[in-house]
Amino acid sequence: MVEIIREAYTDHIIEKNLEYRRKDDHESGFVFPWKDGKVQLNPISEKNYKWCQEHPEEVECLGVVEQENWHRVPALARCECGNEFYLSGNYYGCTPCSKCGKWYAMSGYEVKPPDQWEEDMEEE
Ligand SMILES: [Zn+2]
Repeated sequence: MVEIIREAYTDHIIEKNLEYRRKDDHESGFVFPWKDGKVQLNPISEKNYKWCQEHPEEVECLGVVEQENWHRVPALARCECGNEFYLSGNYYGCTPCSKCGKWYAMSGYEVKPPDQWEEDMEEE
């Protein structure tokens, strides 16, 4: 049994983007991440951003658009071996400890490694 250090929770993130839309094709355009009151650019997006500013006849600025995202954060657990890891349940709801390789269910109970699951079913 692992010790649950922190229960799983859902993180709520609001992403902000500065959006430009093509005037001749409303389905396409440009989106630039917006943070701390200014646009965040890398060398590639900087080119696009400049292009948008220089071509108001082609694109329309929609301003800063907020987008809500939910992100599931798995429980943080401490294994008997002392290793801390996330009970992400990536394998049929089970997760191995990244250090000692013991397998745990989402609730924190130790389970047999998946290569022994089939044998169990045959015995029943
Ligand atoms: Zn472990």
